[in-house]
Amino acid sequence: MNQYDVAIIGSGPGGYVAAIRCAQLGMKTAIIEKYAVLGGTCLNVGCIPSKALLDSSHHYEDAVKHFEEHGIDIPGEVKVNLKQMIARKQAVVDQTTKGVEFLMSKNKIDVYHGVGSFKDATHINIKKDGKTETIEAKNSIIATGSKPSSLPFIEIDKERVITSTEALKLKEIPKHLIVIGGGVIGLELGQVYKRLGAEVTVVEFMDRIIPGMDGALSKELTKVMKKQKVKFNLSHKVKSVERKGDEIIVKADDKKGKEVTIKGDYCLVSVGRKPYTDGLNAEAAGVKLDDKGRVEVNEHLQTNVSNIYAIGDVVKGAMLAHKAEEEGTMVAELLAGQKPHIDYNLIPGVVYTWPEVAAVGKTEEQLKEEGVAYKSGQFPMRALGRARASMDIDGFVKILADKNTDEVLGVHMIGARCADLITEGVTAMEFRASAEDISRMSHAHPTFAEAVKEAALAATDDRALHV
Ligand code: FAD
Repeated sequence: MNQYDVAIIGSGPGGYVAAIRCAQLGMKTAIIEKYAVLGGTCLNVGCIPSKALLDSSHHYEDAVKHFEEHGIDIPGEVKVNLKQMIARKQAVVDQTTKGVEFLMSKNKIDVYHGVGSFKDATHINIKKDGKTETIEAKNSIIATGSKPSSLPFIEIDKERVITSTEALKLKEIPKHLIVIGGGVIGLELGQVYKRLGAEVTVVEFMDRIIPGMDGALSKELTKVMKKQKVKFNLSHKVKSVERKGDEIIVKADDKKGKEVTIKGDYCLVSVGRKPYTDGLNAEAAGVKLDDKGRVEVNEHLQTNVSNIYAIGDVVKGAMLAHKAEEEGTMVAELLAGQKPHIDYNLIPGVVYTWPEVAAVGKTEEQLKEEGVAYKSGQFPMRALGRARASMDIDGFVKILADKNTDEVLGVHMIGARCADLITEGVTAMEFRASAEDISRMSHAHPTFAEAVKEAALAATDDRALHV
């Protein structure tokens, strides 16, 4: 029987990063993945393919709507080749998952393909094609991730009533895509198909989209997406989704309780994701799950069984790839006797619509609720030369700082390239910078990053320069 210092179940960003860090720290490491390809949700049906389609559809939209103004004439009609678009996306995914395979072999990590299921706290059965192999592991890390969740009355047929997984490989552009859930995944994929020519209606239970983010971001994104002709039915409680042939009928109650009927040809159910532990046989190892089906862990990501840890989407906290990666690194370093730490307040959140939305730290709503005295500085993208040069003028950067100490407490932004710009906010907050610290740093001109400096100037003493 093969013996390991650590065995990791699941090869998503949490699992494969944990494996690499364990190997770097000298542990004999195994990783177990039930699918034939490594990389988990993020690489196969999440972050990477969705960004590939967002980029392709963005190019198309630019060609159709903006090239003429830039002085680029395309003779003939610009057309979408959806088959090629999906094929390119798949090529990007394949290249990325192969990269993970390479990293496993480079770091001498043993890869097992099959369903990993605990036999007891130190033995894992790996089942594949009716055969079972058992390995022994001193320590284990559960990194089994999550699956799309639904509403109890919705039947996902994977053809017309679909989850994000199917939305990444449609064979035709919907005429009218109804998106249930105005969170990150629904908005990103909704925008892909809107750009490709579909009518898109978002139905959201709450009174705003991207509910966890700062209210100002949600308001601005709604405004911009409405300009892009996405329809929003906010404060609508979906009560049925029916398929009649190729037609989808969604019925919802609006906030006054009046029934609203929306008809389309595809319905994307994007109401969140649920932790995945099917087949893991956690009980055989004595590992406890919480009331939401997540693996219960303490602040060291250790389960109630001392040699078994859990990370990523299968435990509490934001369901994000980079959060899973940080947790993978943390557990590896804990196992090596180090004292790592994650500040969960500094895990950025990003929506890859265009304009992009990104945030780190506390929202204005949270600061109010916590009774923290704060000040706010905001700067509009349209006031930047760089934004006007590229015609990306929507959005703003908002910096929240402590009223007394000037320490940055939250950075919230919407605009071009904000997914990358937010790292400046994370860096500043990691080093406990003040708004004035940011405002005194030289920012290259002309860049979108200048909006961060200007928002910091606005927060420091209301002394933004270019408004
Ligand atoms: P996963 O990536 O879910 O990996 C778990 C792995 O475990 C899977 O490969 C699964 O097959 C395997 N597994 C499960 N059970 C077993 C078992 N018993 N034996 C063996 N293997 C098993 N996050 C971002 O940060 N940025 C984004 O842009 C982003 N975009 C997204 C877009 C979409 C459409 C979706 C769906 C998600 C997106 N996410 C994004 C979320 C991100 O994908 C997840 O947070 C991330 O994948 C979680 O990583 P993980 O390692 O915890 O689990």
